[in-house]
Amino acid sequence: MKLSLHSIRSNLATKPEQPTNLNVPEMQKSKQSDKTIGIQIDAYSFMDEGIEKVLDILQEKGAVNTLCLSTFSYDRGISGRQIPGRTFPDHGVQESDEKIFHGGNYATPHPEYYKNTILKNMRAPDFGSLDILAEVLPAAKKRGMKVFCSVLDGFNYPDDVHGVKELLEVDLQGNKGGAMCFYQPDVREFWKGLVTDLCKSYDIDGILLFNERGGPLLNSLGASHNQSIASSGVTCFCEHHQKAAREMGIDYLRTRAGYLKLDKFVQTSLQGKRPSDGYYVEFARILIEYPEISLWNKLFDIGKNQVLTDVRTAVKNVNEKLQVGFHIEHVNSFNPIYRAARSYADLASKADFLKVVVYNNAGGERYASFIRNAGSIVFRDIPLDELLRFNNHLVNYANEADLNDLASAGLSSDYVYRETQRALAGVDGKCKILPGIEIGIGSRNATPDETYAATLAAFKAGAHGIILSRKYSEMQLANLAAAGRAVRDAVKN
Ligand SMILES: [Zn+2]
Repeated sequence: MKLSLHSIRSNLATKPEQPTNLNVPEMQKSKQSDKTIGIQIDAYSFMDEGIEKVLDILQEKGAVNTLCLSTFSYDRGISGRQIPGRTFPDHGVQESDEKIFHGGNYATPHPEYYKNTILKNMRAPDFGSLDILAEVLPAAKKRGMKVFCSVLDGFNYPDDVHGVKELLEVDLQGNKGGAMCFYQPDVREFWKGLVTDLCKSYDIDGILLFNERGGPLLNSLGASHNQSIASSGVTCFCEHHQKAAREMGIDYLRTRAGYLKLDKFVQTSLQGKRPSDGYYVEFARILIEYPEISLWNKLFDIGKNQVLTDVRTAVKNVNEKLQVGFHIEHVNSFNPIYRAARSYADLASKADFLKVVVYNNAGGERYASFIRNAGSIVFRDIPLDELLRFNNHLVNYANEADLNDLASAGLSSDYVYRETQRALAGVDGKCKILPGIEIGIGSRNATPDETYAATLAAFKAGAHGIILSRKYSEMQLANLAAAGRAVRDAVKN
């Protein structure tokens, strides 16, 4: 039985829905600029606050003309209410969703698209049989708004999703990991089936694919901002990976020996036991002795890129005009080696647009965390403030705060400008760049003026639009309005 929207809302909301009193002028509602002004939003916000009311707010305050609707996700980054434990913004239900949040496909999976995979039904149970696309699409289309389905491949699939367990990665110790392996045929077929289903079954404008997973070399070193250093548990060494490696002539046993040696180096470095030649030299020696370490990391990247290509092909097979975009994760900004493992030119050949993360407030604490991770192993001989300045040169950041002030200061709007320009130069006109502008992600609360400056910086750098991130359910309305003000000023000029 299909639940009505009203009954779902009554079950969830702790306060009755208020009629909109924003009185958005009709002209403003229908006015579209050439720029894509997107916002990431999910089913919880629409169910909690009401579809028409939320769309009024997005158009009036944020000048939004495109929804990036979280359609498939188990990740709280783009779905659910505010992250548990954090302060709620000034709208929406002020109660944690911990007891009801599950994640999955918030649209209706149509079985014919999942014939070639054991992942038959990943429907999100959060709202019963609610189909968020069916509910939101007509309302958005009526206003001339575009709708992209956000689809996210994450790290932590719930245990109760049928079929996932068999497809999880295998780590260095032979244990199951938390993410699904790119080399599992069922996994590849699932992503193809899912995006085909969404593009064929609904009148959407395209797909925005999220995948923040990194390869085993960088994961060994904790060379990111958001992960612990777990060199013993890196992935993937499953049978499908081993088969792909054999085809590429990569020796599995040598690879394993190399990663075990790297693990030992990481663990002793973390204890501050300095190798006689220093941390950096020891690391470089392991890489030279075991080139298989880098090759296995490359194997991971090839697998990841295969999924991007699969998704693009599947979407374009439905309709060439449908757009495909990729979320480009934050570590791609901080980490020069990660930058080297990917290229904007290559990504541009697979995508119509890239959502490049330039979250500048959360960026401060994330960048500091990345520097501390890098400085705890390979660069342990270098004082952290010097390492920060050195890395700033490598990645072309200027005039950012010192390490101890980074978290409270955040990164500047100049950072947004530089990273937007770098992406534009990298793709060289072959795809659009839509920087992800942050509102309310981390512990640092930006003032509306700071949000205005960051948003305007993206346009001044030449962006084709923006995507307000990470999700409406964590944004203060004053900051959303400041972003909208910047959009209007940028489009006007
Ligand atoms: Zn694998």
